[in-house]
Amino acid sequence: MPEPVRTTPAEAPARKVLREVFGYQRFRPGQAEAVQALVAGRDAVVVLPTGGGKSLCYQVPAIVASRAGRGLAVVVSPLIALMEDQVGALRAAGVAAAAIHSHQEESDRRGVLAAIARGELELVYVSPERAALDSFRRLLERAPIALVAIDEAHCISEWGHDFRPEYMRLGELREVTSAPTIALTATATPQVIREIEGRLQLREPALVRGSFRRENLEFAVAHLRSDDARTAAVIAELEAAGLRGRAAGRGRAIVYCSTRAKTESFAKALRIHGVAVGYYHAGRTKLARERAQRAFETGRTRVLVATNAFGMGIDLPDVRLIVHAQAPGSLEAYYQEAGRAGRDGLPARCVLFFGPGDLVTQRRLRGGGSSGAALGDRDEAALAAVEAYARGRLCRQKVLCAHFAEPSAEGEAAACGICDVCQDPDGIADGHEESAAASAPREITPLSADEHATIVEAAKNLRRPVGKSNLARALRGSRAKPLRRLGLVDLPQHGSLKAHGEASIVAAIDELLESGALARRGSKYPTVWLPGRPVRAKRTDDSASAPPARSRRPPTSDLARALDRYRRRTARALDWKPYMVFQRRVIAAIDEHRPRSRDALARVPGLGPAKVERFGDDLLDLIRRHAR
Ligand code: ADP
Ligand code: ZN
Repeated sequence: MPEPVRTTPAEAPARKVLREVFGYQRFRPGQAEAVQALVAGRDAVVVLPTGGGKSLCYQVPAIVASRAGRGLAVVVSPLIALMEDQVGALRAAGVAAAAIHSHQEESDRRGVLAAIARGELELVYVSPERAALDSFRRLLERAPIALVAIDEAHCISEWGHDFRPEYMRLGELREVTSAPTIALTATATPQVIREIEGRLQLREPALVRGSFRRENLEFAVAHLRSDDARTAAVIAELEAAGLRGRAAGRGRAIVYCSTRAKTESFAKALRIHGVAVGYYHAGRTKLARERAQRAFETGRTRVLVATNAFGMGIDLPDVRLIVHAQAPGSLEAYYQEAGRAGRDGLPARCVLFFGPGDLVTQRRLRGGGSSGAALGDRDEAALAAVEAYARGRLCRQKVLCAHFAEPSAEGEAAACGICDVCQDPDGIADGHEESAAASAPREITPLSADEHATIVEAAKNLRRPVGKSNLARALRGSRAKPLRRLGLVDLPQHGSLKAHGEASIVAAIDELLESGALARRGSKYPTVWLPGRPVRAKRTDDSASAPPARSRRPPTSDLARALDRYRRRTARALDWKPYMVFQRRVIAAIDEHRPRSRDALARVPGLGPAKVERFGDDLLDLIRRHAR
């Protein structure tokens, strides 16, 4: 392993460039050390988390060197979009930068090559394929090279989660230049670092490691098996983050899935339950992907369901929630994706859903693409790390930091105090018992009449409707952040049903809903509320003032039959089940009360703002046409 560098201030010219070219007053942790190593002519390996500011680590010394007449910096980067962004930003700051890649006109490319030959460029970005070409290397032999930077350097490692064969030949650059080389990555275990050093033929490189701690991120794990449970849990998370419903406030959420099929089915399930979501995966057309991305970036949709195809090079400040609805194949991938939360430094939450099925899914996905048995072992090791993270009862932040850093550096750091384990060290909440006894079915024990009364009392103290699971967790005594945000930890009844499992309490809530002692708001993933009590400040959600629906009444009137036909037709068109459009009791309620406005429609239990938005005009039209 290389020696860590001692913290010393970077040279004065570097600070000048930082200020004058980039407009920043000071280096971030790690940047000064990296810059100093390069300015002093040393090789370096830089490990900084995504968003940590890796680009500056080579851009500043590149500019310092070229302004001292020492030649050109060559930056190898795997993503064309990212290259173009960087080049654009550098040019805007008055730096002579350019890129060479395959999506470029031949004439542009020749122009860049000529500029290199004339010594006019300060930085050139190239793809790894291009860097490996003999012709490119011959060009480098003729031009003075001040430094070489290899971005996303973990791509060189077969141990990494993102191996790219074209990185294998980058070591050959050493044959044409002895300029200092800097390798940068966000994901490097000691093993990956050794591989990077060896393959790039680095000479006693300075190792610069920024902190991987993200103080503002609240990590949590939920042990869930079925898709239904996962959908319900996503909805509960969105609700707690204030991102459920159309009037969702600020911030955004990303729901990551492992497969395209699940991405689509989760998006559909969320949409049906009134969450305005987009979805993104590599199987969609370019246009559809761009639309989904734009809607998410502009805030038209605040929730995006996506595979790992989404996110590279995307830097949104206000992602408040990242749910992994299926566990990914490595902690590297997990940390990279979860790390997109809270870039603005404000609190954000990262939840990993984990169940045994996720390991099966990952094995299937990886088995499809891998060639040899050796790769299988590596993937298994990566999966084992994910499983250990999910099943462990140690501070999540500490586990992640220890995974990415030398144990001496960060492993002993303090517990974060905000992750699910720090919040709930005994594992009372969130179904942890399920993971302890993975194969045991969730046992449901009946609650006493007094305990039922406790639940109703708790509901009386609610400030607004909440999901069943959140209420159950509060009654069990969980202090998890979503519950705090919903004000549930302040309930006088908080923790008073500690003796029961979450499933038992949810079952009791279901009974109370059946008996009418509690009111259900919404259909499949309902929130719980008191019957007949209005909800303040949310007019469109106020089902309490709407008349009770008479259920199970066969459609009799013309209107009811027309509504039923409409529901079936729409379901066919959308490839939904009819009840997903709306339930029979909605037909009965509309038939009985004949609402004449969107507002009145929104008060029909089971319709909700999203469905009124989508079907409201059709429904009002039908009601008008079948006036009594
Ligand atoms: P990474 O490549 O590590 O993901 P970037 O290099 O893209 O991160 O930097 C992330 C953001 O941080 C960018 O918006 C960048 O301008 C900003 N940044 C980098 N260094 C500094 C600094 N010293 N002071 C302020 N902002 C910085
Ligand atoms: Zn913690």
